[in-house]
Amino acid sequence: MTALLFDLPPVVTIPVVGEAAHYPVGRIFCVGRNYAAHAAEMGFEVDREAPFYFTKSAASAVLTGATVAYPPGTENYHHEMELVIAIGAPVFRADAAEARAAIYAMGCGLDMTRRDLQIASRSKQRPWDLGKDVEDSAVFAPLTPAAQVGPVGPQRIHLAVNGEIRQDATLDELIWKLDEIIVDLSQFYHLRPGDLIMTGTPAGVGPVVAGDTITGGIDGLEGISLTIAPAE
Ligand code: MN
Repeated sequence: MTALLFDLPPVVTIPVVGEAAHYPVGRIFCVGRNYAAHAAEMGFEVDREAPFYFTKSAASAVLTGATVAYPPGTENYHHEMELVIAIGAPVFRADAAEARAAIYAMGCGLDMTRRDLQIASRSKQRPWDLGKDVEDSAVFAPLTPAAQVGPVGPQRIHLAVNGEIRQDATLDELIWKLDEIIVDLSQFYHLRPGDLIMTGTPAGVGPVVAGDTITGGIDGLEGISLTIAPAE
């Protein structure tokens, strides 16, 4: 075996309800503007032309219950509560049935965002990385196998900051449904186990500050929490 000059941090792994083994985080894909009311609050009308994506580094993943420092370079760090899909089988150029079969599990996630930097880069037609690929910004709750979740639609998705509700919607409001996202994304990537897809956030995004605790949930899934510590 080839010796390494240094060790990297271990891959982040997510517990799965009813399973002894964890789900290792490979790649993190994120869908933009997938709820009309959130698109509107960001100043956009929704179109059905095609979904769009950005990514977060797998190294930015943390598990629910974490306390993370307020990140550098922002004065407007936002919460985004999201449904997460965990891919469980290789899938490329999927049809709808193959897309549904590739969903291994679902979970709650937080797509924490340096909103000021995202908006600045957007207005300059630059990439979103500084706004979105933030250290410790991809937060995951334990996953629930898809077979135990049932049809996605009526479930409530909600988020509170210090107990005060900020985001409250249902999964019926997803513009691009789960199979449609996988069908489209798999035109561009060989999706495989370890790939997580954050499916977008409903309306009500907003800032957090040091000392805040975020709690969120989706009916039928394990809840999520994150506490923001002072900046380093
Ligand atoms: Mn998001």
